Formats: sequence, structure tokens, C-alpha cells
Amino acid sequence: MKKTKKPNVVILGAGTGGTIVANKLRRKIGSKVNLTVIDPTFKHPYQPGYLFVIIGKEKPENLVKDSRKLLPRKSEKIQDYAVKIDTEAQEVQTKEHGGIKYDYLVIATGSRLATDAVDWWDDTIHHFYNGEEALRLYNELKEFNKGKIVISIADIPYKCPPAPIEGAFLIDDYYRRKKIRDQIQITYTSPLNRAFSIQTTNEVIEPLMKKRGIEVKTFFNTDEVDTEEKVVYSLEGEELDYDLLIMIPPHRGQSFIKESGLPTDEQGWVNVDRYTLRVEGFDNIYALGDATNLPISKAGSTAHHEAPIIAKNIKSQIKGSNRIHKYNGHVQCFFVTKYGSSMFLDFNYSHPPKAKRSTRYWWWFKKIFKPFYFQMVAKGYV
Ligand SMILES: Cc1cc2nc3c(=O)[nH]c(=O)nc-3n(C[C@H](O)[C@H](O)[C@H](O)COP(=O)(O)OP(=O)(O)OC[C@H]3O[C@@H](n4cnc5c(N)ncnc54)[C@H](O)[C@@H]3O)c2cc1C
Repeated sequence: MKKTKKPNVVILGAGTGGTIVANKLRRKIGSKVNLTVIDPTFKHPYQPGYLFVIIGKEKPENLVKDSRKLLPRKSEKIQDYAVKIDTEAQEVQTKEHGGIKYDYLVIATGSRLATDAVDWWDDTIHHFYNGEEALRLYNELKEFNKGKIVISIADIPYKCPPAPIEGAFLIDDYYRRKKIRDQIQITYTSPLNRAFSIQTTNEVIEPLMKKRGIEVKTFFNTDEVDTEEKVVYSLEGEELDYDLLIMIPPHRGQSFIKESGLPTDEQGWVNVDRYTLRVEGFDNIYALGDATNLPISKAGSTAHHEAPIIAKNIKSQIKGSNRIHKYNGHVQCFFVTKYGSSMFLDFNYSHPPKAKRSTRYWWWFKKIFKPFYFQMVAKGYV
């Protein structure tokens, strides 16, 4: 009997989205596919933990796992950069391993922290969007005992929309515990007309920020920063001086995607169908997580809920079925308001989150989520 060739499924990126798709696929179609995952480092960080690094409650080295141990055993793992996608030849070019052929391709390459996108960024500016910078910020905050902290956003979109406000709450809490909060001024700037983008959640968050003495400046879109004079200028014409600046860096899609001619927006986020998660114009290329230009949160939870849809749609295609599975925009996330209290948000394309109180109950879920993430979420069990 003639043996049919197994389809090649190639996944770019072994972060949250790529790892879950790989595990879901392996479980859904067993060994009926050749599964290849390409990633330059195979280091898989639990990024929400960076927030606790900045107040000395977590260590960056405890947040990272080797993603090869999270991926299915029966998958090829190529440590390399994808540098080009040739959609005609159905081949991914890598930096050192040549071309890798695909029948189905999944783009899960996340977002790039693009401090090079602005000409004013220098290392006097802090952030907490990777482990190294979160630790550098902690060392700075430890020594900073008096003055004005500004927490600002370089541009949109950026991953985990609650994270900058969570950072402000945790820093407030840190100085309260040190009993020097009255010597520290904290200002949070928002590009919108409110502190947090989702109105129903903002109804709880913004009053809480005010209660905690965190000044909120709305309609503040960063134009540039003079790091010598220590002033942030907004496009709206405002000036804000600081002693310590924490700036959420500009985010961009990985540049090779746009350079390969795939449909992306200006910033390099891939255009995908919001339901099928197929890249516009292709029925065998999918994208998920931060890499897409969907108008929803760039969050691990988004990738988590998108991944099974992609696995099911690839399975349908391989089996020759016409069944199309649809992503409904489901996102769930914690919103920490101090060390010991959190809200929980749950929403989708048609239902915004309901306004809820921040409680200790949700904090405990947040606390145990790291091991749950690595053991259950990343491995595709839930
Ligand atoms: C401070 C902070 C707090 C956060 N808190 C939360 C939270 O509470 N809840 C939540 O849901 N989300 C949170 N997030 C966001 C979440 O971590 C990301 O949105 C999520 O990891 C995105 O998953 P992804 O698979 O799209 O990208 P990633 O997990 O970033 O993975 C991308 C992968 O692509 C690889 N890659 C890059 N370039 C290439 C290339 N050329 N070729 C091959 N591979 C490549 C990278 O090495 C990486 O492994 C937080 C993020 C931060 C920074």
C-alpha cells in the first residue's frame, strides 16, 4: 500500500502561543504530522513575574524554563532565527539551518521591544518588560528614597495592557511598606481619556489609583524625552518632569514577517482573520498571540485561547473536513492592585469585563499561577 506523506507543520516561536499550539496539535492529531518548532533561544519566560521582580519579590532566573522541555517530545526543535517566509515555495529560511518546508505554518513570534524605534531612548530610562531590565529597576527603586517617579507609555500597542498600572500599584505598595511613601510622588500617564482602556474596569481602577495617591495624567501621548533635563514631552503639548522615568518601550512585530511580504500593518503586526486566525490571503498560514494586529490585548491569555482554535483548524484541514473553528476573542487576566490583592477580568469580542472589586481571593490564584502555567497551560492540558 502506498504511504502518504505526512504534512509538515512548522511553528515559528516557542513562547506562550507556539508552545501551546505544538502541544495541542500533538494531542489532537498524534503523530500524523511532522512537527517542527523554530526558536532562537528556547528560553521560555513567565513574563507576568517581571512585575514582582521590580519590588524584590521574584528573581528573573526563577521565571525561565527551557521550552524544549515544555514542547512535545516528538517534535523537531531547531534553535535558530526564522529570517524569511517564502510563501511561493512554502519554505521558511533560517539564519543557520537553511530552508524548512511547510504545509502549514504558525507564526507565534511575539513582539519585539523596539527602543530603537525612537531616537531619545537611553539607559537612564527604566522598564520592566524583560528580566534584566526589571532587576535593574528594582536596584534603582531600592536606592530611590525621595522624588518624582513617572510611569509612561512610549506608544501603543504594548503587551499586557494592565501591566503599567499594576507596576504603579506595586511601586506605591513597596514605598508604603518602606514607610517613605510620603516622600515619593508617582504619576501615571495614559494616552487615552482614562487610565485603563476598558471602561468597565477603569471604573474600579482609576478611583483606586486616586485613593492611593497615584496621579493620573490622561491624553498624554509621549512625543519625546529629554533625558538630560529629565522631562517627558507629550504630543498634546504637555511637559512632565521626573527624577526616575519608567517607560513602557515601543513594541513592534518581528521585522522579517513584513520583509517577507506578508500582510502586516506599519508596525509589523500580521493581518489575520479575527475568527479563523488565518493570515490574510493564505489558508495554510496562521498567526496568534502578540504577533497579530487583532484589536485585543497582547497577552499570554489571548494566545492561550487562540491556540486550540489553530490546532483544530489545522486538524480539520489535514482530515479534509470543511469545519472551521472560530476564536471568539476570549481573554482572561489578573489585574494586581497591590501585593496581596487582585482583580480578575474575563471578556471576549462581544462582552467587556464586568466591573469587579480587587480581592485577596483572586490574589491567591495569581500567586499560584506560575507553576500552573508551566505545568498545565504551556503543556496544553487546559
Ligand atoms: C510585565 C509583563 C506582564 C505581563 N502580564 C501578563 C498577564 O498577567 N497575563 C497575560 O496573559 N499576559 C501577560 N503578559 C504578556 C504575555 O507574556 C505575552 O503577551 C505573551 O507571552 C505572548 O505570547 P506569544 O507567544 O505571542 O509571544 P512570546 O511568548 O513572547 O513568544 C515569542 C517567541 O518567538 C520567538 N521568536 C522571536 N523572533 C523569532 C524569529 N525570528 N524566529 C523564530 N522565533 C522567534 C521568541 O524567542 C519567543 O520565544 C505580560 C507581559 C509583561 C512584559
